[in-house]
Amino acid sequence: MLAVSHTDRVFVLSGAGVSAESGIPTFRGVGGLWRNHPIEEVASPVAWERDPRLVWEFYSMRRRVASAAEPNRAHFALAKLEQNLEGRLFLCTQNVDNLHEQAGSKRVVHMHGELFKSRCDTCSRPPFEDFNFCEPPAEIPRCDCGGRIRPHICWFGEAPFEMDRIFRALEKCTVFMAVGTSGVVEPAASFVACVAGRARTIYVGPEKPANLSSFTQCHMGKAEEVLPGLLDIP
Ligand code: NAD
Repeated sequence: MLAVSHTDRVFVLSGAGVSAESGIPTFRGVGGLWRNHPIEEVASPVAWERDPRLVWEFYSMRRRVASAAEPNRAHFALAKLEQNLEGRLFLCTQNVDNLHEQAGSKRVVHMHGELFKSRCDTCSRPPFEDFNFCEPPAEIPRCDCGGRIRPHICWFGEAPFEMDRIFRALEKCTVFMAVGTSGVVEPAASFVACVAGRARTIYVGPEKPANLSSFTQCHMGKAEEVLPGLLDIP
């Protein structure tokens, strides 16, 4: 069991593996391909310029898959941990689904964006909730400014969101736990190295991550099987 004292500050980094058992495949799980396109080819600014309809088809498919998914025991365990720690949990997810929120987590930092939000590709209008496009749009929707509406996703080659807040939380944390993430995608893969040596560092997942050497503990197994026991949350 993970002992967390009343002075500990816990940073959790969740990855695609946390949602795998809910029916949302990881990129590695699908071999990094969608309809024979490498995922980088449909999730990048270059792809958006070349073929925005193809990009929307990909994200419409992902919205359909995510809308059918339900949170699993790992999401619920992390939501309960947030309640128990009363402000001392920082939950940073690389996932773009909303399963942490559906499980009851209130303060989730989505560093790679959110599947059910869109924004303008031109003006500074803030991202907005968007549950449409469960079928790909015939025309690319337009903003009032004339720009095109795009998914609110950090694509390959773009800067992740909220990095200042994330680095402040990393500086303060005494426990760092990564769950269901391969330790390959940067900058998230390097978070553990930022805290190694001064925080306890824990990995949870069925396979060893690429950055395993920076962790002091590794709990091999599926997140939904390991987390409830590790966090003592039945
Ligand atoms: P990844 O696809 O590179 O790796 C997935 C990891 O999950 C692997 O290490 C695998 O061993 C592990 N895993 C598989 N099943 C698991 C389970 N039941 N419990 C715990 N771990 C399990 O994923 P990544 O490291 O998160 O990075 C890939 C990128 O893909 C991220 O940027 C993320 O935004 C994006 N992505 C998100 C979703 C989502 O929102 N659900 C889904 C696919 C990809």
